[in-house]
Amino acid sequence: MTLFLANESVAGDEALPSTFELIMQDRMAGGFKPATQYLVNVVCDSYPHLASSTPVKHFHESYALLKLLIERYCLAHYDSLLSERFYGIKRVELTEGSTEPLSERGRHLSLLFSVGVPYIKAKLDAYYHSLVATTVGVRSDDEDDGMVAIPSDHPLLDPPSKMERFWRQWKTLRIWAQLKKSFVDLYPAAHFGYEGSFLMYQWMYLFGYTRHFTPFLRAMKMAFARITPTDITTFDQKRLLKRADVLAQLEARPSIVNSLRKAVYKSTWLALDHSQTIMILTIVSFKFVEWMYSDLNPRQPALGPLNCPPPPPPLPPQLHDSAIAVTSEVQRCGLCQRTRTNPASCASGFVFCYPCIHQYVAEHGECPVTRLPCDVASIARIYEDAEPVA
Ligand SMILES: [Zn+2]
Repeated sequence: MTLFLANESVAGDEALPSTFELIMQDRMAGGFKPATQYLVNVVCDSYPHLASSTPVKHFHESYALLKLLIERYCLAHYDSLLSERFYGIKRVELTEGSTEPLSERGRHLSLLFSVGVPYIKAKLDAYYHSLVATTVGVRSDDEDDGMVAIPSDHPLLDPPSKMERFWRQWKTLRIWAQLKKSFVDLYPAAHFGYEGSFLMYQWMYLFGYTRHFTPFLRAMKMAFARITPTDITTFDQKRLLKRADVLAQLEARPSIVNSLRKAVYKSTWLALDHSQTIMILTIVSFKFVEWMYSDLNPRQPALGPLNCPPPPPPLPPQLHDSAIAVTSEVQRCGLCQRTRTNPASCASGFVFCYPCIHQYVAEHGECPVTRLPCDVASIARIYEDAEPVA
């Protein structure tokens, strides 16, 4: 706890957010993507045809686009990203010791570093994991080195022969494979450096050595500051002015389309103004619905596609004109009247010795009990004597 206090005393700036708040904010920002992925998975479980739709198949791209739209709105209206706004933090630009409000360039840079770079990182991560998954156990490069290499300018291959073309293509393939191999070897170090630099900046921020909480903020010459009541008034005024402007423009040209647009704008603004409440309500209701349908809720028996009730037993067969008497002894063959050997069933489901039923069906072409038409191909060996497989 003393460390967090130390941070504020060292920096000597009341508007500087504490490391604790910033770490919580960072965690929240990092949780958006897994949460969205989880939500998509839940929806896809209920509607499996959605799983093959383009936005779900290209989840990284869809998420980046969604994030771009949300963060652009937040930066334009609050000078902060969504998670920063939750914690009452804004971004300011540092120019020669003094702070300036975020410029248009700063907003674009913020978008690049909060949406573009994480998107590229996610794609590289996915590529790395796919490479590792496919190259595990395939390490033939070292064996290839033992082969006799024919240089491309060898006198034997002077005219551009088939062999030479093959050799060139093989070399390109080899370079590509080599590049992939170096990527797999170097990427963990790059990943460690990337993540490590964030940790290092967090520690430096904690001890007051820097005002930049992340290396990205340093690259953009930006810092975090607490949103003050004056800021909130300014943001509100700016937002209301912008909206009044849009409405005035629409009202200047009255038409059905414009009044429709006005209604859409107004409802969107209402939703945006109450986005925090809506989000919390959505999470709570989502969790509630999840609990309602979960196995933990005793009110509803769990009936999934793999957990349905057993079907009712089949109706008893009509036996008024059977060729043989049906025996009530489970192990006895109705044809030879002895204990069954090598049990086999015909199409009707009745079980006899295999030789007995085969002979009977071959001669009569019907089941001896039900007299339903039957052929020898439908006689099935059954394993009633077999030990149950665990
Ligand atoms: Zn028999």
